[in-house]
Amino acid sequence: MKEIEKKLQFRNIKPTSMRLLVYKVLKKKQKAISLYEIEQEFDNVDRSTIFRTLKTFQTKYLIHSVDDGTGAVKYALCDDDCTCSLNDLHVHFLCNKCGQTFCFKEVPVPIPKLPEDFSFESANFVVKGICSTCK
Ligand SMILES: [Zn+2]
Ligand SMILES: [Zn+2]
Repeated sequence: MKEIEKKLQFRNIKPTSMRLLVYKVLKKKQKAISLYEIEQEFDNVDRSTIFRTLKTFQTKYLIHSVDDGTGAVKYALCDDDCTCSLNDLHVHFLCNKCGQTFCFKEVPVPIPKLPEDFSFESANFVVKGICSTCK
């Protein structure tokens, strides 16, 4: 079995050809990319089909989404042991020059101390600056 099919099955996702293609695009980019950017990689695929595929991936923790403030939600692959829990939250970096969003998986999101009776569920931590390529 191919590597990508294994990845999908590991997350209990049936490896249809569409899903394999979307996964390949995310893998190739190595960054967080928007639905629009994924769509550009296909010739004739309905946007809603790609969107549904991304939603499936997301509920199975194969990918996570990032709101980097650019107005478009971006998606990136999760690590194999990721369950998108508090411990898996990491910092994202938006380059002000090229507009690319990077996953800093080795940089955990700082969890703030909250007032009593408030419980933490998720966080979106985006650092903005200039990436190493644009520097
Ligand atoms: Zn850049
Ligand atoms: Zn990420």
